[in-house]
This record gives sequence, structure tokens and C-alpha cells, in this order.
Amino acid sequence: MEVREMKVGFIGIGTMGKPMAINIIRAGYSLIVNDVNEQAVQELVKLGAKKAQNQCELAQQSDVIITMLPNGAIVEQVLMGEKGIFAGAKAGVCLIDMSSVAPSFTQKMAKLATEKGLGYIDAPVSGGVKGATEGTLTIMVGGETELVNQIHPLLEVLGKKIYHVGAVGSGDAVKVVNNLLLGVNMAAASEAFVLGTKIGINPQTLFEIISASSGNSYALSAKMPNFVFKNKFAAGFSIDLQYKDLELAVQTAKELKVPMMLTNVAQQLFEQARANGLGKEDISAIIKPLEELMGIKVRI
Ligand code: NAD
Repeated sequence: MEVREMKVGFIGIGTMGKPMAINIIRAGYSLIVNDVNEQAVQELVKLGAKKAQNQCELAQQSDVIITMLPNGAIVEQVLMGEKGIFAGAKAGVCLIDMSSVAPSFTQKMAKLATEKGLGYIDAPVSGGVKGATEGTLTIMVGGETELVNQIHPLLEVLGKKIYHVGAVGSGDAVKVVNNLLLGVNMAAASEAFVLGTKIGINPQTLFEIISASSGNSYALSAKMPNFVFKNKFAAGFSIDLQYKDLELAVQTAKELKVPMMLTNVAQQLFEQARANGLGKEDISAIIKPLEELMGIKVRI
């Protein structure tokens, strides 16, 4: 195995971060990890990663630091906390935030990082756990070209389609737009399948025909057969995170005075699912309140 010189710090070894971190170890990088979940840290240590006691210590030992965290508030805390990244990172270290956060938030954090002599790149991803495990994520990158080129080999370990969109924050902008569509499409596919099933069409028949027709979408092709039909709703991509991403779209649109009709309705449907205690389940569980209302189940 090729041994790479770059020392990589990784914070946030969750649903996505864990398989991504494993791929970085397998690619020959020395990896230092941190997470509030000690069990996740120990799993990575068994595979060869080093544990940092806190994020400051991780930053002191890293050339590049990846964050893969639930939301902007946590990224901010990890960067700016008393024992955070800013407290420990040497000048010249590059921070890569791969979490899905608001473009304006990233621009604010990048400014603070630059003032400390640190590089900052936003590189949110799409492709789910499958893409993270197989190293085939789509990665949307924002940041200075020279910096992006420097860390490109590391991104290639994680993804197959890597797009340098433009200045810092622009990767997040594309991600916000993408996940707005995912949320709206998931809500639409759920409503459509509840109607079709209520009429009396077999969900499998419905799926096969719509997959070959103009109503198809990723939400339909990935989520109906693998989650809804099988009655398996373990995330995946959780309703809480999808709700957060719709909030990012709504807030970003408000900053720019862009009306968001469908996005707001979709967000309310995800809110309803959260109110029903489904926040930790996969986004496909948004179909459950609709099924309950109609007294049917879209299952095979
Ligand atoms: P997750 O909740 O499974 O993982 C987040 C990890 O961060 C957890 O291990 C948690 O313990 C850790 N964490 C939380 N607070 C921390 C702190 N203060 N310090 C250190 N670690 C902390 O989330 P996920 O599904 O892996 O998603 C991560 C990010 O990627 C999110 O922004 C999400 O929107 C985005 N994303 C997720 C998917 C998906 O399919 N799950 C796909 C694309 C993008």
C-alpha cells in the first residue's frame, strides 16, 4: 500500500464520515480522528487511526482536516470552541468542511480561517452511505484553485465525480439546491404512491412503470424499493438532516428574496414526520403519516 505523507484529521465519524474515514486509511494516509461518540472512535482506532483527545490536539497534528458534521452550529463549535480546530491548527493547514451547511455560513468561517493563515474549502457530498462506502461520492467543491488542486488526490479517495464549482461557499450552494430537490421529490413520490396504492394498483407495478416513465426520480428509484417496499426505514439519510437541508434552502432563499413555494410545503411534511417521532428514520419514512391518514401501506 502506498504510504502518503499528508496527515489527515477527521472529525465526525457518523453514518457518512465512518466509511469515508475508512477509505482514507485504506488509501495509505495516516489518519487522526475525533468524535463525541467514543464507540465510533474506537472502531476507527482498530483499523489503524490515531485518536485525538480533542479537536485542538487533532488540529496540532494534522496537515489537512476534514469535518463531516450534522450542521453549521456544530461545525462552528468544532472550529471555534476552546479546544477547537482554530486553537490548534498551524498556519498553512487546510480545512475541508464536507458537512451540508449554508453557503453564507461557509463564507463567514472561511474568512475567519483565512485571518488565521488557514485554508478553507467547502466540499459537501451526494451519494449516500453507498457512495461513501464505495468511494464514489459526488463532491461539490468551493475554494481557491491552488488549494483545491493540493487536496484533490485526497478527494479522489472519497469520490468519483469532483466538481470545482467556484469560490468558497459555491459547493454548498449547489448542495443546497440539490437537497431541496431531493426533499421535494421524496415528498412527491410518497404522495403519488399513496394515491396509486389507494386506487388499488400494486406498488411494484406502479414502480416498474413509473421508473420507465417521466415521473421517475432518484427519490423514487432509490427509496421506494430499498426502504418503503421492504418496510426498512433505518437511515440512510435521516428526516432530521433533510429537514435541516430544506431549512438551509429556505434561509438562503430568504437572504436573496427568492420565493420557495414547494420547498416550504415539503419542509412542513418533514416537520410533520418529526412531530410523529420519525426524525431519526430515513427520509423515505415521510410516507408513514400519509399512509396512516389513508389507512394503507405501500409495501410489497
Ligand atoms: P451523523 O449524525 O450520522 O454523523 C455525524 C457525526 O458527528 C456523529 O458521529 C456525531 O457523533 C458526530 N458529532 C456530532 N457533534 C460532534 C462534535 N461536537 N464533535 C465531534 N463529533 C461530533 O450524520 P451523517 O448522516 O453522517 O451526515 C453528516 C453530514 O453529511 C450532514 O451535514 C449531512 O447533511 C451530510 N450528508 C449526509 C448524507 C447521508 O446520506 N447520511 C448524504 C450526504 C450528505
